[in-house]
Amino acid sequence: MSRTPNELAQPHISALHPYVPGSQPSGGGWIKLNTNELPYPPSPRVADAVAAEFGRLQLYPNPLSAPLRAAIAAHHGLEASQVIVGNGSDDLLNLLMRVFVSPENARAIAQTFPSYSLYPVLVAIQQGVVRSVEFDESMVLPVARLVGLEASILFLTTPNAPTGVAFPRADLVALLEGFNGVVVLDEAYVDFAEESSIDLLNRFPRLVITRTFSKSYGLAGLRVGYALASAEIIGLLDRVRDSYNVNRLSQAGALAAFQDQAYLAEVVAKVKATRSRFLVALAERGWETYPSATNFVFTRPRREGCDASPEIAQDLFRYLQENRILVRYFGSCSLTANGLRITIGTDSEMETLLQRIDIWRQTA
Ligand SMILES: *Cc1c(COP(=O)(O)O)cnc(C)c1O
Repeated sequence: MSRTPNELAQPHISALHPYVPGSQPSGGGWIKLNTNELPYPPSPRVADAVAAEFGRLQLYPNPLSAPLRAAIAAHHGLEASQVIVGNGSDDLLNLLMRVFVSPENARAIAQTFPSYSLYPVLVAIQQGVVRSVEFDESMVLPVARLVGLEASILFLTTPNAPTGVAFPRADLVALLEGFNGVVVLDEAYVDFAEESSIDLLNRFPRLVITRTFSKSYGLAGLRVGYALASAEIIGLLDRVRDSYNVNRLSQAGALAAFQDQAYLAEVVAKVKATRSRFLVALAERGWETYPSATNFVFTRPRREGCDASPEIAQDLFRYLQENRILVRYFGSCSLTANGLRITIGTDSEMETLLQRIDIWRQTA
């Protein structure tokens, strides 16, 4: 009997549940508040920089993304040897898993739950062991329990996704002091927060910080992210990286965006102002919402006389979808099952959303 491709494949791959990204609808007319993209275009310098590469597409890109590494290092006051650029920060998260995770218990990964749901998928590809510590509704970082886990690497999204909460610096320092392995702080949303942990890199040689151009820089479509760490860790990641992991257009576009920090500051300020107004509007409706240090909020919808519940959250999710507004629902975890994650869009998009929410609240 000949075997099917599924039977020929490694069993852990056949059994794998792939990561499910938020949907990208085709056709217009949608208000997209489901994947934390920027509602504004990237810096106008990006288009020219990308166009300038069109005449050089027959040539391979710079294998190290060297100009981008140098610019990133200079901006953060680090050496170029402390920077690696990836095809999105997801590429770098994958490299970290491939370097540090294996089926052995000593090379397990530690994470919080809920967290970025890509981490366990990348671990499963390595047949690694995940050790999770659950948050309670307070969203206080469970430092003592995380520090007690046996693992070679720990992943923490900070500020957190999907709740949007920022962790106090003292808690992050306690985690770094106590955890006996590599600590990855996934700072995908840090530009919308008050502080970063970059200055801790020189104090903690096992710290890795990952960043992305997909959120604050408005370049989700280009796929560029970077990681900052010791030269030793960057050297390990470079060993498993694809030689040309970031294409020519992406390197040029990301560099142009990075060099326009004034534009970044402008759009981030706009998103934060919209976020403040939106948080007030949710509070006025009596919805429990975490304080957000990101470009999204996590809120627990309520109707007159009813407490938040998974049924109510799902009902609003469906109602909004029927009205061409996309948000995100995470039903797999009790902490998030009675809420929705809503990306901060433009002021007018948030107005439309609130109008829809108010119609929904009156129909039950
Ligand atoms: C969006 C996101 C990323 C990924 O970003 P890319 O650079 O687009 O791959 C990483 N981590 C978290 C927590 C994110 O939300």
